[in-house]
This record gives sequence, C-alpha cells and structure tokens, in this order.
Amino acid sequence: MKTFAYDVATDVDDAVARLGADPDSALLGGGTNLVDLMKLGAAEPSSLIDVTKLPLGEIEVAGDGALRVGAAVTNSDLAVHPVVRSRYPVLSRAVLSGASGQLRNMATTGGNLFQRTRCVYFMDASKPCNKRNPGSGCPAIEGEHRNLAILGASDHCVATHPSDMAVALTALDTVVDITGPHGQHRVPIGELYRLPGHDPDLDTTIGHDEIVTALEIPALPAGTVSTYRKVRDRASYAFALASVAAVLRVEDGQVTEARIALGGVAHKPWRAITAEGELLGRLARPEVFREAIDLELKAAKPLRDNVFKIPLVRNLVTQTLTELARQEVSE
Ligand SMILES: Cc1cc2nc3c(=O)[nH]c(=O)nc-3n(C[C@H](O)[C@H](O)[C@H](O)COP(=O)(O)OP(=O)(O)OC[C@H]3O[C@@H](n4cnc5c(N)ncnc54)[C@H](O)[C@@H]3O)c2cc1C
Ligand code: SF4
Repeated sequence: MKTFAYDVATDVDDAVARLGADPDSALLGGGTNLVDLMKLGAAEPSSLIDVTKLPLGEIEVAGDGALRVGAAVTNSDLAVHPVVRSRYPVLSRAVLSGASGQLRNMATTGGNLFQRTRCVYFMDASKPCNKRNPGSGCPAIEGEHRNLAILGASDHCVATHPSDMAVALTALDTVVDITGPHGQHRVPIGELYRLPGHDPDLDTTIGHDEIVTALEIPALPAGTVSTYRKVRDRASYAFALASVAAVLRVEDGQVTEARIALGGVAHKPWRAITAEGELLGRLARPEVFREAIDLELKAAKPLRDNVFKIPLVRNLVTQTLTELARQEVSE
C-alpha cells in the first residue's frame, strides 16, 4: 500500500481546507470501502482526513417532520432508529440488506453514499478501467459484466452503483447537505449521482473539496407504504443483482403516489420516472404494475451476460408493488 498521511478533522471547515490543500487527499469514514481499495492499489490517496469524530452523528426529526441524518451516523444506528423503522421501512430494510453487522457498525452514512463500484476490473489495479484510469478502456463491456448495468450505460463504462441505502434515499427524495470552500448548499440526491457518459471517473457531482454533512429525508405523504427488496446471488454478504425501493399510496383501488428506484441496474440509483408516471391514476393491479415497469425497461440495453436482469427487474417490481398494494388495503 502507498504511504499516506492521516489526520483527524477538527471541524467541517478544517476538513474542507485540508481537502482543498491536497488534490490527492480523501475523506475517511468507516474506511470499509476506501481502505479496501487502498489495499488493492485501486485508490492511492496521499492523505486521509478522518471525519468520524466530527459532530455529525445525530438523527433528528425537524419541525416539518423531515428526518435529518448526520453524515457520521453509522449504518447500524440508522437502520434501527425507531423513526426510520416506523416511518421509512424502505430505508431500514435497504441498509440492513447490505454488508454485515460488523461492517454496518463501522460504515457511515456519508461513506455509504460514496462507496465505489464493485466492477471487478475497477478493483483490480493491474487491469485497464476508464473509471480508475481515464482513457485506458473498459474491459467489462466484452468481459465480466453479469452484474453490471442495463440502463444508462455508455461505451466508456457499464458499471453499477453498489449502495442499497442510496437506492432507498432516492425513492425518498432525499436532499444532501454539502459544505465546500464557498459555504453550504443542498442537492437533491437525484442530482448528486451521475451517469458515466464520457467521463466515468466521476461517480457524482460533488467537488473534491466538498464534504457531505447531513441528509434530509422529507416526511412521506399520509397513507403511503414503502419497502425495499433486493435480489442477490447469496442470502447475505452480496451486492444486488437488482433491487427496488418503492413507495406507494393506493386510494379507492387507484394509485395516487408511486415512487420507484432501482438498484443494481445503472451507474446511479435509477429513478423509474416513466413507470411512476404510467401508474398514477391507474388501478393497483399486478398487470398494471407489469405494464408500467415494462415501459421503463424499454430503455434497457443489456450486455451479453446480463439480459436476465430485464425479467428479473420486471418480476421484482411487479411483485413488490403488488405486495405493497395489498398492505395498503389491509391497513
Ligand atoms: C464484504 C462487503 C460487503 C458489502 N456489501 C454491501 C451491500 O450488500 N450493499 C451495500 O450497499 N454496501 C455493501 N458494502 C459496502 C459498505 O456499505 C460500504 O463499504 C460502506 O457503506 C462505506 O462506508 P464507510 O463509512 O466505511 O466509507 P469509507 O470507506 O470511509 O469511504 C467511502 C468513500 O466515501 C467518502 N466519504 C466518506 N465520508 C464522506 C463525507 N462525509 N462526505 C463526502 N465523502 C465522504 C470517502 O472519501 C470515500 O471515497 C459491503 C462492503 C464490504 C466490505
Ligand atoms: S465498467 Fe466502468 S468500472 Fe468497470 S471496467 Fe468498465 S470503466 Fe471500469
């Protein structure tokens, strides 16, 4: 592993200043992704700025009912918080579906947002990879891509975003608080993540000298129900082949609110806007859910070995929405 400096940030401005002073520096959360990549030689920061001691470890309910989650809150604490479990089961289930208990005890909310893709070429420093080494090529397109993207990919990268938590946060219309050298600003999570396009080395729109301090998750409208479902190769300790975070409200048998975010299918959590629009005002029936997700999947461009994700997503979304609609009726 390359030698690196280690400092503990004394406050948020100190972290921002340290980031600005060294273009090869990196923030350190729980280290469960970054340190692994450093051991593999796939990340080589010259200095680590530990942000786990900053006062960003609180979960609070704001006056308008929104939930504010500090960036240093651990994944374990987030998943079991009583308000998260009762009001946002989609988020609690998504976080608990990821990694293991030990890892979730270490991993932070901020770090989870910015974990890197699990594309095998990205993690193997001996291989070309446009994301790790821009311009070197994308061997995954012709190589090992079973777990990679079917939506929104480019000729330069077909990676998928690995976070389960971020998929749930996308369905929840979360807003991300960011502090940089010019002060604070807020970004809807849909604008934080990006598609690979010509520059897949950029996973997100955040600047190098910026830090996420908190998330704000708006209260869900009355009468909505939500859940997260994930399909993977093993029952635990595996990333999603496909996943869905869904929020649904059914009134008099008709869909009056539908939010669908997909994981394991794109370079970012994929908000299924087309399907959502198709569902509004329609009867909450399996055939309607299937029709809506099929419209979304028209944009899919699967690779040789991941065509299976199309029927997988279709069945996953149809079944998940059908179960949510039943839950709605029984409440
Ligand atoms: C074996 C294994 C299995 C896993 N399975 C899953 C899974 O199934 N699903 C899943 O979602 N995840 C899974 N994970 C990934 C795990 O969730 C992430 O490693 C973890 O969430 C990262 O959080 P961290 O605090 O350790 O981040 P770190 O590793 O410390 O940092 C990750 C990135 O975030 C940046 N960062 C940290 N804090 C901030 C901040 N406040 N603002 C801006 N940038 C910041 C860092 O600079 C770094 O680039 C798995 C990990 C392992 C090792
Ligand atoms: S899919 Fe993306 S991350 Fe994987 S090898 Fe290609 S460029 Fe690298």
